Amino acid sequence: MHGRLATDDSLRQAAIIVTSCCSLCNVLSTMESTNHLFFECQYAVSLWNWIGYMFNIRMNHDNMDDILSTASRMFVCAQVKYLCWAAIISGFWTIWWNRNKVRFEDEWVSIPQAIKFLTQLTSESGNLSNNNMSNSVVDLSTLRYFGVKARPRKAPRIDNVCWYPPLNGWIQINSDGCSLGNLGMAGSGGILCDSHSRLVGCLSISLDIKTSIFAEFHVALCALEITLDQGWDKIWLECDSLLVVMAFEGKFNVLWKLQNRWSNCVVRLLKVNFRFSHIFHEGNQYADILSKRCAAQQGFFWWATTPDFLPVAVGRDLLGLPYFRFK
Ligand SMILES: [Zn+2]
Repeated sequence: MHGRLATDDSLRQAAIIVTSCCSLCNVLSTMESTNHLFFECQYAVSLWNWIGYMFNIRMNHDNMDDILSTASRMFVCAQVKYLCWAAIISGFWTIWWNRNKVRFEDEWVSIPQAIKFLTQLTSESGNLSNNNMSNSVVDLSTLRYFGVKARPRKAPRIDNVCWYPPLNGWIQINSDGCSLGNLGMAGSGGILCDSHSRLVGCLSISLDIKTSIFAEFHVALCALEITLDQGWDKIWLECDSLLVVMAFEGKFNVLWKLQNRWSNCVVRLLKVNFRFSHIFHEGNQYADILSKRCAAQQGFFWWATTPDFLPVAVGRDLLGLPYFRFK
């Protein structure tokens, strides 16, 4: 509004002398001002209370900020929230429209008629929303009242994610990196298994303040270097970072800090059998546990047997039990 509407108080400020009386509540002693017309007038208060009742919220209508913040705080459902915003904006328009009807056309618009007009405006705006409802009966009844087509959320798709051991004679590396914030204290973890799902070793490295992408690349690199140093000639890297996979495919440039090590490692990998693949993080949980553990500690850790904090995760993989991924 910002003083742009030609209410009587604004006209007086512009040195236009008018005899002022609110056209909506028609109380002779009440001068029309923006504040009175939209927030204090009994006519406006009736409309705000009706909107509050329809959306089951306690509408604080002392000023515009209060009205807008009430609407933005109260809803979880995006579609109903959008509808409420539409109702509030329509409410302002309805008050101003009806005030002009009375003042310039001498046509009184009753509260029920104003509500009908407001409902029509809200309905037209509400149908333009692309948001989804929260699949509750209360939301559905609100949307139905305003004649807005409900857009229920889609049911989540559940995928099974399983970890499988590598082929016979191969060693499989599962790696993961994380940072507590981005930038933040970073850690990386990797676990090495043979084709019988036996643990060959696992590592966990603290990286100080780094990004999660750096951690992902760093641990893949470290684990590959360790397996190459050990003389393994059939190596399978499996990680949950698509960027690492894309780097091996030549579709993503490795971070410049690791570029030399990466190039050297790739040259060494050309001399052995090497494969890489992506796994969703649900199936990469043991590497995830290792990386998070080291993000909070300092140092390099290597375990030749299963560490105490991993048996549940590893045991689940050994049994071939799936993890569930919700989309
Ligand atoms: Zn009034």
